[in-house]
Amino acid sequence: MKAIVVEKDQPARVASFDPAGLMPGEVTIRVSHSTLNYKDGLALTGKAPILRRFPMIPGIDLAGVVESSSSEDWKAGDPVLVTGWGMGESHHGGFAQLARVPAAWPVRIPDGLDAATAMAVGTAGFTAMLCLLALERYGARPGDGPVLVTGAAGGVGSVAISLLAKNGWHVIASTGRPSEAEYLKGLGAAEIIDRAELSSPGKPLGKERWAAAVDSVGSHTLANVLSQTKRGGAVTACGLAQGMDLPGSVAPFILRNVALLGVDSVMCPTPLRVQAWERLSRDLDRAHFASLTQTIGLDEVMAAARKILAGEVRGRTVIEI
Ligand code: NDP
Repeated sequence: MKAIVVEKDQPARVASFDPAGLMPGEVTIRVSHSTLNYKDGLALTGKAPILRRFPMIPGIDLAGVVESSSSEDWKAGDPVLVTGWGMGESHHGGFAQLARVPAAWPVRIPDGLDAATAMAVGTAGFTAMLCLLALERYGARPGDGPVLVTGAAGGVGSVAISLLAKNGWHVIASTGRPSEAEYLKGLGAAEIIDRAELSSPGKPLGKERWAAAVDSVGSHTLANVLSQTKRGGAVTACGLAQGMDLPGSVAPFILRNVALLGVDSVMCPTPLRVQAWERLSRDLDRAHFASLTQTIGLDEVMAAARKILAGEVRGRTVIEI
């Protein structure tokens, strides 16, 4: 089969791969679509030690149909998607025509979504939905005030804007790309701010500006987001596009009762996955997804990987296998 393969200390390349070399699992999937996430960019370029074994087929997401299954839970022809679980890191991933995974990993593609749209959502969009669900579980509501989305023109950010706006939130989008203002407004952003306002060291407490936030940037940005969150507000942290550090103070927590909610999509438990994908099938705006998605082939993945690390990819990239 055709796959992107990474050998130790070698650049990633499109190659022929013997499916007998796939790892053990009860479910074999014929992959029709995958997608490119920030983490895939790191894995493909070797910029961070994402890959745990070699040779490795990267790709943390895939969608397709079950080809064969030795589990009662799945049968040939079932439409499925898989995200995370270490796929594309320690288990062969989605940049290949076939994948084999444990029966616990796939989620049935809900009615109303197809494989291409599921991958336009991908881990990035799924994570955006996990952030919305985390805010709702905490009790945050659109009536509390605006919600801030950082890394707005990226994958998580773009989908988060669309989902939050659809759910009635007044969305403030923070971006370093003012040229994307019209795109972000088209997704539902009510206001755009320059990310430079948030990216340098700030004060322990600032003016209260938003009731909630979805942050995919980390570092000084997250510290400033927290320091400018209204009393009783909540912030979800899911990313590290600026950095993994969090150089802030406890002031927002102990003086304003602000909550910091962590979001991890990789080991997310199955019931929450099913809930998030059902909600995505209901809430995602198809016109928005047409504007935030570009489609490429396996041969174009390496160039796109370099672009996503340079912060030059807008929205989501679907890969047609
Ligand atoms: P993208 O590259 O698509 O988006 C990241 C965005 O962050 C960029 O588009 C840019 O937005 C902004 N950004 C980039 N560099 C900087 C910087 N130095 N300072 C401030 N802002 C910056 O990536 P994704 O949306 O796919 O992922 C975003 C983050 O979330 C990544 O760190 C990723 O690893 C993480 N992630 C975590 C998951 C989890 O399970 N916790 C799941 C998915 C992603 P703009 O141009 O608008 O400023």
